[in-house]
Amino acid sequence: MDKTKVSKKINDVSPSFCLAKWLQVTIDLVNGTTHSCHHPKRHHIPVEGLEDNPSQLHNTHFKKQQRKLMLEGVRPPECVYCWNIEDTPGEHYSDRFIKSSDDWAWPYLDEVKKRDWQDDIKPTYVEVMFDNTCNLSCSYCLAEVSSSIYGEMEKHGPYSVRASDHRMIQGPLKRYSQEENPYIKAFWKWLPELKNDLEVLRVTGGEPLLAKETNELLEVLQKIDFKKLSLSINTNLCLPDKILDTFIEKSKNILKTKKIKSFDLFVSVDTYGKQAEYIRKGLDYDLFIKNVKRFCEELPNGRVIIMCTYNVLSIVGFKKLLEEVLELKKSYGNLVLDLSYLRDPEYLKASMSCSSLKSIAEDDLHWMKQHQTDDGDGYSSHEVNKFARIVNWMKDSSNKKEMSNIRGDFFSFINEFDKRYNSSFLETFPEMKEFYILAKKNKFLQTF
Ligand code: SF4
Ligand code: SF4
Repeated sequence: MDKTKVSKKINDVSPSFCLAKWLQVTIDLVNGTTHSCHHPKRHHIPVEGLEDNPSQLHNTHFKKQQRKLMLEGVRPPECVYCWNIEDTPGEHYSDRFIKSSDDWAWPYLDEVKKRDWQDDIKPTYVEVMFDNTCNLSCSYCLAEVSSSIYGEMEKHGPYSVRASDHRMIQGPLKRYSQEENPYIKAFWKWLPELKNDLEVLRVTGGEPLLAKETNELLEVLQKIDFKKLSLSINTNLCLPDKILDTFIEKSKNILKTKKIKSFDLFVSVDTYGKQAEYIRKGLDYDLFIKNVKRFCEELPNGRVIIMCTYNVLSIVGFKKLLEEVLELKKSYGNLVLDLSYLRDPEYLKASMSCSSLKSIAEDDLHWMKQHQTDDGDGYSSHEVNKFARIVNWMKDSSNKKEMSNIRGDFFSFINEFDKRYNSSFLETFPEMKEFYILAKKNKFLQTF
């Protein structure tokens, strides 16, 4: 789609308008929170009125206020992810345009324009979390999302960083039992109402393949026609074969009955090998790659999307991951690389790295461009552009004093993380020794 045309039509509605605020939603049914899109912070869904109007899982009063701001041309502060990209020098397309031009959004532009900001609207893209049970403890993840991290924080308490509530427990592990949970009940009631409109349903976690509701969903989708639907399931792929066998079997059945349009498996890794295992504690990199190949082979009609949340620990090993994915792409036409940048916690974000680390990212982008092809064997322009956006964002210089504080937090976090998980940052990332020393110096200059 012509990017200039898209941005003009979107900006004609208002310079802060974004279809994702209306049509895309991420709902955490365990903690009762919602956000649109997934970049802004989550906010609470009131239980009152939910039984009568389950669309409140998406259409909260708070979200309607953000839609109102967008229609008035005011930038909602919660969408800073996009404003950061749009404010970097040069011409850049933020997710506001990328998401708005997606297949689940663009055809609905005129319909959304006709609606009042106060109206309830049916989303076309729903991401849902049924359960927070997770076997991994990724460095950037939160106690409310992963039961393993919940256990870590319960045992050790907060990290000594300035935002000490990061990763911390915000409430009980589960406010409701899965059976009594009003948000899960509302979701099952609401889901059939979406059958004609839903283009994407994405199940996230926790680890979704450990949630019984994921299996229930697969059964529902064998019975009700969701003709436009692309079903997407997130998984860390580090699970026993028995769980994967059942899941693959059910997924094959759904594709066979043609009750949905397509199937995508989203799997996560942020860099290569041992360094990836350091970022995502509990990840077994070799098992991950083995299972990527297995899904590509066993579900040839589905796509496997490797999601990479690019962060400061991704940088030094990233080229090897790019090389590995390129090799896999040559064998499997259904494999895609999807890149986003980590914003939170800020002490792990790639933009606070030093100039020598940033130049590695630039070299990797150059290498990726050299392997860009349109025949499916190399990286697509979409994949390359996503990395180019990240590298551009990393170049953006920020307040030096603030950067020094953030690096000081990095030093505190890494040392504590190593103690908790019996790991060694310097042994795993010898290439980052210089940056580690810089962060140590910054720690001693840190101002609170
Ligand atoms: S403006 Fe950006 S952050 Fe906000 S909803 Fe749209 S895509 Fe998401
Ligand atoms: S696998 Fe997902 S839910 Fe589990 S800790 Fe990692 S990011 Fe969080």
